[in-house]
Amino acid sequence: MRDVDTILTTIFGLEHFRLQQREIVNDVLAGRDALVVMPTGAGKSLCFQLPAVALRGLTLIISPLISLMTDQVRQLRTLRIPAMMLSSGQTWDEQREVMGRLRDGFRGLMYVAPERFNAPGFLSIITSRELSLLAIDEAHCISQWGHDFRPEYLRLGEVRKQLGNPLTIALTATATPEVRKDIVRNLELKDPAIHVTGFDRPNLSYQSIVFAKAKNKQAELIDYLSHQKSGGIVYCSTRKQVDEVTSLLGSQLRGRAVVAYHAGMDQEARGSNQRRFIDHEDAIVVATNAFGMGINKPNLRWVIHYNLPGSLEAYYQEAGRAGRDGQPAECILYFAVADVLTQKFFIEKIGETNGTLSDKQIATLQRRATKQLDAMQNYARWERCRRRQILEYFGENKLPENCDCDVCRAKNPKLKVTGRAAQVEGVRTALPKPREKAMQQALGVPTLAGDDARLARMKELRRDVVRALGTMFFQYLPDELLRRLVANPPRRVEELRDDFELHNKIVDAFGTQIVQVLNGSGKVERQPQTQAVRQSPPPQASPRIAIAEPEKRSPRGKAAGTKKVAGGKVAALHGGAVAERFERLRTLRLELARKNHFPPYCVLQDEALLEIARVQPRTMRELLEIKGMGPKRAERYGKELLAEVAKD
Ligand code: ADP
Ligand code: MG
Ligand code: ZN
Repeated sequence: MRDVDTILTTIFGLEHFRLQQREIVNDVLAGRDALVVMPTGAGKSLCFQLPAVALRGLTLIISPLISLMTDQVRQLRTLRIPAMMLSSGQTWDEQREVMGRLRDGFRGLMYVAPERFNAPGFLSIITSRELSLLAIDEAHCISQWGHDFRPEYLRLGEVRKQLGNPLTIALTATATPEVRKDIVRNLELKDPAIHVTGFDRPNLSYQSIVFAKAKNKQAELIDYLSHQKSGGIVYCSTRKQVDEVTSLLGSQLRGRAVVAYHAGMDQEARGSNQRRFIDHEDAIVVATNAFGMGINKPNLRWVIHYNLPGSLEAYYQEAGRAGRDGQPAECILYFAVADVLTQKFFIEKIGETNGTLSDKQIATLQRRATKQLDAMQNYARWERCRRRQILEYFGENKLPENCDCDVCRAKNPKLKVTGRAAQVEGVRTALPKPREKAMQQALGVPTLAGDDARLARMKELRRDVVRALGTMFFQYLPDELLRRLVANPPRRVEELRDDFELHNKIVDAFGTQIVQVLNGSGKVERQPQTQAVRQSPPPQASPRIAIAEPEKRSPRGKAAGTKKVAGGKVAALHGGAVAERFERLRTLRLELARKNHFPPYCVLQDEALLEIARVQPRTMRELLEIKGMGPKRAERYGKELLAEVAKD
């Protein structure tokens, strides 16, 4: 057997091992099972590719995505290392040929998706062969704690047994202790060598921006990107959001290549957008989490999350696509409360997208997902060193001394120029003005944890409200809303309605009181309603972290203010068909309200109802776009509303 250094240089063309690659390779070659936990981009593939070459037998690699397999097979072939793959993307002839070669004693790297083991033909061939090595890539898919759980991965323990417990290496970038345990247990690895390499990526700087209104993200993004000349990824949590942001950027950033990427696009469009992104230095891709696995563009200087992801694992993996070349890069998270609702919506849908799960499994998954979402929210909102938060979450106890995340920078102005990211000159662009302002404001923001007194007062307030209005209104002051109110106290009663979507009744009855309590002992400066107070808040007076900017109320927003929309008026405004539909929807709403024991306006406000009558949504997605609808309501009443609209 050639020694590993020779293979590394002569076959792989690399100069030296990175991190713990050498130890891992040696462990495997010594016949010991291994679990490798390394951040994305650190070089996990080499940990099985090199032993595969050294062992000269058949190495079977399980990988969840065709794009990952295609990439690696192509790379290996350019290095003249025998490699092939089996995937549903191949023609029958291609698959038959691969199976034939496998039967005839192929030696090299064989990539398959876990589903492949459901095919008896493949199973019988592969069990007839002796494996030198079994590699399980993206092994976190085995764990229900992982952000990317795949039921097919659960069977791999059994598959491994059928294959005669071959030497196994499992690899993942997800480092939480639960995931690690799940992998070892499910695969029944015997005394594996566990390699967890440093998760800190010193060249990445982290920042989280909290927005009072989701809409405000737009201006911030445009501002950032007009200063930031290099390319990067804007991650969104829904396809709809991808489309919106893509067209926003397309119209605002003239001359820049902006492409979209999500699973709803056809394969060809995705492929060509991906190529455009890879080929153009300054290209921006706006994408859902469908984008990125297997993308290896090492020189991304920034990754922005336009929406809150579902977990820190997902966040770190996606944000970690920035700065793979080790040069400074920024990971910026945009947060608005609406993001949480979207994620909760996904959580509620867990069972539906995965038909093979039992109710109990679904409940467990939902519980875990909720916990992960909580942690993600903490990261976004908690004014505590972001790097620390991430590393602690991943169970890393060696914490770095210096950090240049937004929180550390705000606390220690000296760090501004000495952060590690600043070591390489000219890469980092200066912070655009509004962001700097937002950060300075953040300086004066009391942390949620340290604000017990306020929270206590809010709880009192809630009791008053409930006492006065009955428990029905309880739902309008859930803890989540309380937390938001305390974190970003509104300065004006109107904001309760607009930003916090507090029910009109409550705002009318208790608005002033709420604002006073939140701003401390009634010291509320009364502002004329028309004045754009938020345009220039005195520094540190207003503890809002969001970007301050004037907000133009849309005509639609005004319509919301005129609470009652009478049927007659509707008819005059929109003509007979809409009015007729509106009336039918009103009747339906009354039924729904009775059934659910809510007053009708709690089911849906007139404005939203009118909008539905006007727009006539056909699908759940279209329905969700109606203002005032929201995932909760869509979930609860969507089917019936759509059915009613579909009647004409
Ligand atoms: P991971 O699977 O951990 O996300 P990959 O295995 O895809 O990462 O590797 C990321 C990149 O790092 C690849 O381009 C790979 O060629 C490169 N790489 C891996 N090991 C080394 C090394 N020792 N020296 C230089 N480049 C390396
Ligand atoms: Mg990998
Ligand atoms: Zn920090």
